[in-house]
Amino acid sequence: MKNIIFIAAPGAGKGTQSMMLSERYNYLHVSTGDLVREEIATGSERGLAIKEIISHGSLVNDDIIFDLLDVKLKASNQAKGIIFDGFPRNLEQAKRYDQIYGKNEMDIDYVIHIDIDKDEAMKRILGRLICSKCGSIYNEYYDKFNNQNHCNSCDSTLDKRVDDNEVTFGRRFDVYLEETKPLIDYYKEQNLLYTVKASDNKEDVFKEIESIIKG
Ligand code: ADP
Repeated sequence: MKNIIFIAAPGAGKGTQSMMLSERYNYLHVSTGDLVREEIATGSERGLAIKEIISHGSLVNDDIIFDLLDVKLKASNQAKGIIFDGFPRNLEQAKRYDQIYGKNEMDIDYVIHIDIDKDEAMKRILGRLICSKCGSIYNEYYDKFNNQNHCNSCDSTLDKRVDDNEVTFGRRFDVYLEETKPLIDYYKEQNLLYTVKASDNKEDVFKEIESIIKG
């Protein structure tokens, strides 16, 4: 199995690249952001607590993340690899993952850091639209639409995420710098880290990532 972690600030394109990779190579796409949003959608008490945390741009508690992750990873035995999109988010999560899963087929092979500066990331986040059905990601300022406010792939309506506003973005970016960015050194020491520069051309970024994982 080839298992890949993406480390990137909000808006860098880790969701887009993860989806492209999972489709192209039939890998299991594990987005902890999606897992927490699915939990919110169930309307459970835990979901309500998570909603509050997310709306402030803070990180969800590690125990909850590992609970959700565990369920999702049970589906991984058929996959050729796993793509972690938004996990781990801090050093504790990275170490805990290595302890629980690191000794078997689920150990990490590549860590891809997508580098983006703050202004560019903010422009992307404030314009981001997500398909309510297939999850395709667009930008209302940069992309052209066949049918306004509808997905070019499946024609379903496009939504904005509640945390994609200026204030919450600022907090999410700070959390990235403080809690997630230290992971770069953690994986560099293990010789697993590769950095690619974010670009408006998602195909270019994809090709670069492909050349890394093909070795
Ligand atoms: P982005 O990277 O654009 O902020 P995500 O969908 O990855 O978007 O995450 C959205 C929110 O979900 C985060 O701001 C955080 O509150 C929560 N979240 C996602 N993944 C994790 C994680 N591994 N640990 C803690 N919180 C997480």
